[in-house]
Amino acid sequence: MSEKTVKIGLLGAGTVGLQVARILREQNRELSARAGAKLVLSGVAVRDTGKVRPGIDSALLTSDIDRVIDNADLVIELMGGLEPARTAMLRALQHGKTVVTGNKAVLATHGPELNVAADTHDASLYFEAAVAGAVPVVYGLRESLAGDRINQVLGIVNGTTNYILDQMSTQGWSYEQALAKAQELGFAEAEPSADVEGHDAAAKCAILASLAYHTRVSISDVPTKGITEITPADIAQAREAGYVVKLLAKAERVMVNGQEQIALGVEPTLVPQTHPLAGINGPYNAIVLETEFAGRLMFYGAGAGGAPTASAVLSDVVAGAGHIANGGHAPRESTYAALPISDPGLVQTRLQLRLEVSQQIGALSQVLQACLDQGVSVASVRQPLVESGADQATLFISTHSASRQQLDAILAVLAKSPLVHRIASVLSVEQ
Ligand code: NAP
Repeated sequence: MSEKTVKIGLLGAGTVGLQVARILREQNRELSARAGAKLVLSGVAVRDTGKVRPGIDSALLTSDIDRVIDNADLVIELMGGLEPARTAMLRALQHGKTVVTGNKAVLATHGPELNVAADTHDASLYFEAAVAGAVPVVYGLRESLAGDRINQVLGIVNGTTNYILDQMSTQGWSYEQALAKAQELGFAEAEPSADVEGHDAAAKCAILASLAYHTRVSISDVPTKGITEITPADIAQAREAGYVVKLLAKAERVMVNGQEQIALGVEPTLVPQTHPLAGINGPYNAIVLETEFAGRLMFYGAGAGGAPTASAVLSDVVAGAGHIANGGHAPRESTYAALPISDPGLVQTRLQLRLEVSQQIGALSQVLQACLDQGVSVASVRQPLVESGADQATLFISTHSASRQQLDAILAVLAKSPLVHRIASVLSVEQ
């Protein structure tokens, strides 16, 4: 084995960091052989140095992040959040070090700044663990598919929301019941908003879109809607109509007025039961790529968890340490295409509306007229049987493809109509 040594500084020893330290210790011979250099853990930064960290030499623990960075060749950032993660990663990159991170939030917010620092200082930035945990989709897009052209990225990239929707579907639970179960099992945080409101998925969507379309995409470019308003009625209706409800992250190459653009979004979506993403259950992640030459590819696996995420982190460590020992660096940020992001109002989609309407004659025709006035054609109308004497009925309306602007205009008209008591749900429909 090579005599070279690569010193590894670990920032964060929580769920993922502890597993990284464990596997690095237990598999050290093999990982070092693959990297072509002896991998040595040289320091571990944590907030609380008094906490017991099984398997980590207490002499390595410190709360001094800079000391760990300065004493390492390769820095693994697993603290999470924007700060001090951003500052720490910048410091390491500006000193020409290799950085490996699983932090989607910092990449989707400060990615350009970090990539420029890596480029300027001949450093490397790796982030396989930032999207879909163990699933090697970052490598797939950055390297394996560098010879292809991506037309669509469609993914279930948040295991928490997938688990909740799955439990609502299989157990008939409300959103609140399913969330409570997810929290009990450790699939959801006590403060679940980043997951259930779609922000975590939006950060991953931005990272995937940047890689797929060679364009800078930030989390603020991704229109985002979470799953908090999904009800058992939506799920039951979806099933009857041959769909399942999934929180999908979508990044698509589209043509608008003869110009290529990227259409982005994270939202609960009706997915046909025959679609490959419909069968992704529990806390798993899956990403389907539609490519020009390779056709359809699907990446599937554990999207979170200490050991699965550590697997992705360590694949980056082996690659990064190999470059430190033998020359070369991580692939540079690729932004040459610089495609514009589509105006969300012009993005084409199909919607399914669930409306609570008055039983008076004319309610249905008013709804259909609102669609007609916007030039939106209706694909199907369904009204479950109403008890005689009831003063309210439920209407399910599916539209054909139309722009968000047209669909929003329909919703605005319906919201004002005295015959429409409530717009109970609005869901996108995947073709
Ligand atoms: P975690 O369990 O909360 O651990 C965070 C670690 O960072 C803790 O050891 C904490 O120290 C340390 N830390 C936080 N702030 C610090 C500071 N200011 N100074 C020094 N140390 C600090 O987080 P995690 O679940 O392992 O996640 C780590 C990263 O991986 C995040 O970016 C996350 O998004 C990403 N990720 C996680 C998963 C997953 O399944 N957990 C999956 C994919 C990606 P103390 O222990 O002393 O509090």
